[in-house]
Amino acid sequence: MPTDAAPSVLEVDLDAIVANWRTLQARHPSGPVAGVVKADAYGLGAPQVAAALHAAGCRHFFVAYLQEALAVRDVVPDAMLAVLGGLIPGTGAAYTTHDLTPVLGSLDEIDRWFGGPAILHVDTGMSRLGLAPDELAQLAQDRTRLDRLKIRYILSHLAASELPDDPSNALQLQRFQAVRTMLPAAPFSLANSSGIFLGPAFGSDLARPGAALYGLNPTPGLPNPMRPVVRLSVRVLAVRDIPAGASVGYNGIWTAARPTRIATAALGYADGLHRTLSNHGSAWFDGNRVPLVGRVSMDLTTFDVTGHPGVQPGCWLEILGSHQSPDDVAQAAGTNGYEVLTSLGRRFHRVYRTA
Ligand SMILES: *Cc1c(COP(=O)(O)O)cnc(C)c1O
Repeated sequence: MPTDAAPSVLEVDLDAIVANWRTLQARHPSGPVAGVVKADAYGLGAPQVAAALHAAGCRHFFVAYLQEALAVRDVVPDAMLAVLGGLIPGTGAAYTTHDLTPVLGSLDEIDRWFGGPAILHVDTGMSRLGLAPDELAQLAQDRTRLDRLKIRYILSHLAASELPDDPSNALQLQRFQAVRTMLPAAPFSLANSSGIFLGPAFGSDLARPGAALYGLNPTPGLPNPMRPVVRLSVRVLAVRDIPAGASVGYNGIWTAARPTRIATAALGYADGLHRTLSNHGSAWFDGNRVPLVGRVSMDLTTFDVTGHPGVQPGCWLEILGSHQSPDDVAQAAGTNGYEVLTSLGRRFHRVYRTA
């Protein structure tokens, strides 16, 4: 469908993603910076993003699941492509066939893996994946197991890196350093996006940012050092004038206090516009904020455009862009920018921009 017939257009700036990757490299002099492209590159399109990063020189990629790795293997042919989610029984052969690197997080996974290079995940405080302290102690004393394991990286993941003052950062770093003395020497990988900004102590042989590549602010509370990456524009389908006292949308949760002009726009919660934005969110028209009024419905959302005569059927409202970032929408919706991006809908006409 051509852009000019689409009800909604999501523009992804691949050059900005590459620029963000370079910014992160400058901030992480201790080792290269991978591209985390799990969840379809945080909703922006893993094949397109991975290809752009690869063309810029990125040679390490992470996804969450095997099928995500298969979806990008062709566009990053000579790069390390690692699967964070661990080794599901019966999938080992696919890793070998497609030259994928499993991230092993238990003795059971280690024993099921037949020998190619692997990343060893150690738990330093998340209690989700990764070797628990007792398993690590067992592995450290088991020469046979260690000898058949080709450790490409030892990896751990920070639980609160976006909060620089959180004591868990220093505690996890200390535990990670202790882990490294127990195992054979191997490169290590620690920082996610925000971890890169915690200072040189958190530098490692391989950083693993996702969010910051996609323009989310890795330093909440401070100015965003990353370039914005997405623009989401949606079309106005209808405009109507309603009298004071008329209510709008399901369950009438918003009632006009004065004669009001309502614009109905072509997106809803089925497109990832969180329903918690009902009566809270905003769109922008021509540099002006127009408040979201009433309940977000599946395919439609209503805005108070009183005093903006330029808003007419067919014109565009900005949902994400220079006036409103994914982090801003997240704040209004009561979630984080990660969820806003990974919720972005499948109905948007997508346009990928490169220079
Ligand atoms: C998702 C993930 C990352 C990337 O985290 P961001 O906060 O998006 O930079 C890095 N490492 C692991 C293990 C992850 O699960």
